[in-house]
Amino acid sequence: MDNGAARPVDPRVMETMIPYFAEIIGNPASFHSEGFKALNAIKTARKQVADLVNAEPEEIFFTSGATEANNLALIGGAQRYKKQGNRVIISAIEHISVINITKELTRQGFEVAKCPVDEEGLLDIDELEKLVDNNTVLISIMAANGEIGTVQPLKEVAENAHSHGALLHSDATAAAGQIKLDVKEINVDFMTLSSNDLGGPKGMGALFIKKGVRVKLHMIGGGQESGVRSGSENTPGIVGMGKAAEITKEEMMKEAERLTSLRDRLIEGLTDVIPESYLNGHPTNRVPNNANIRFSFIEGEALIMSLDDLGIQVSSGSACAAKTLEPSHTLLACGLKHEEAHGSLVFTLGKNNNHDQVEYVIKELPGVVKRLRAMSPLTPKELR
Ligand code: PMP
Repeated sequence: MDNGAARPVDPRVMETMIPYFAEIIGNPASFHSEGFKALNAIKTARKQVADLVNAEPEEIFFTSGATEANNLALIGGAQRYKKQGNRVIISAIEHISVINITKELTRQGFEVAKCPVDEEGLLDIDELEKLVDNNTVLISIMAANGEIGTVQPLKEVAENAHSHGALLHSDATAAAGQIKLDVKEINVDFMTLSSNDLGGPKGMGALFIKKGVRVKLHMIGGGQESGVRSGSENTPGIVGMGKAAEITKEEMMKEAERLTSLRDRLIEGLTDVIPESYLNGHPTNRVPNNANIRFSFIEGEALIMSLDDLGIQVSSGSACAAKTLEPSHTLLACGLKHEEAHGSLVFTLGKNNNHDQVEYVIKELPGVVKRLRAMSPLTPKELR
């Protein structure tokens, strides 16, 4: 139940990719039939990814993943338009890749402001309005948070950004495939998509760039991807991401219904039975696959290891920040104390999870919490 960190590749995606490793091996830039086959496959994939978010194929640029797409949008976008302003705004709960990119932007002379969120992780729109000014060049707000699941009001953010001449980027890694995303309806300028989160191969992503919006190039070379991102195309990876996007579009609504019911059963089954356990994030305005629950008086790491022994894999925050042992910046931004943030578990469900597994977690976790609390000096007497 740690699909936010890594997902299995859908077998239909794998099957689609296989011929592109050793059979259809042309370079899409080549002027011969093998090259044309690769070029056509990439064209199909670009359309499949575009269709998932209602973009035009020419607005989709393949990258090596969400991190690169975030770099391209934030550094490329801010630098390209720096004559128009030097202020960049992000939310306090962006993914670590976005946070670290803005540290680099600060070094480059940009002024970076973080917009706070409320205790359920929802962006404080009034605060955003105060932060945005005519010197703001770019705003980056994730579509949904991968740790606490909260979905953000992007349309409102876009209106706000555009009224000040700023561009809006959204990291949709945790939202794409979970909720409907329509780049035209939101009126977003940049959107980051990750392949693995759609059931595609790892090491693949895409950046949506609205027609007419430009970036300063960060990968200079042979001019692939319409000059926006040079480097010979990863044809199998692109084909895989395209197929994953197509399957996601077809199956998303049904799968979201199934995951929502698993998620709600998990939340209810754990918080009803385990004393001093609470849901983090928004109770309803959350992606279908995410349950983040905090258990007072214990450490998430101890919980993770005990659950691993029982064959249950979960996370205590973003996998990308897991090695720091710092409490999650997302939970701290929601107002949790350090010790509360440390005692939280993130469940991210996927196609590989079912009802029996949820019931197994509900059966096993209360005993684990009880045992760890009995060992914790922080546990009050009545809970021991
Ligand atoms: N943004 C978000 C919201 C993420 O959850 C992740 C990690 N899955 C990334 C960006 C970075 O993705 P990658 O490591 O695949 O580049």
